Amino acid sequence: MSRFDLTEYDRCTVEAARRALSAAESVNLLDGSAMARMIGRLEVAVERLIEMVDAAPGADVVRCPAAHPEDLTPCGGPVVVTIIDKQDAGADGCEHHAARMLASITGAHPVAKPNAPAGVAARVFRAAHHTHPFAWLGARS
Ligand SMILES: [Zn+2]
Repeated sequence: MSRFDLTEYDRCTVEAARRALSAAESVNLLDGSAMARMIGRLEVAVERLIEMVDAAPGADVVRCPAAHPEDLTPCGGPVVVTIIDKQDAGADGCEHHAARMLASITGAHPVAKPNAPAGVAARVFRAAHHTHPFAWLGARS
């Protein structure tokens, strides 16, 4: 397992930090205002990197099988449904990740687990209709 699952946004953050660092190497040390700007730029780059690492909720939290590796959101509760795709392959999921998975694949449907609360499959189905496919790309929540 890789330590971080980087999104496109994360890669941009790392790339921006790299550029700031390489720009810092050529800053004129006698130019006070250039130094100040460079320090500001480095501060922002470091802050973003820290946010990125801190925001990875649960590098060691176990999530349900329906959670996409690039979707860093935590589970929305216990596993309550199985998402069955057109090939009859299934993945168990919490309501949150099941809805996201359902929104992202065509022709799949949710089936409630035997011990799940009544109406949960319908709830996941409705939530999926209000969820963008691959909701974890772009927005980071
Ligand atoms: Zn989940």
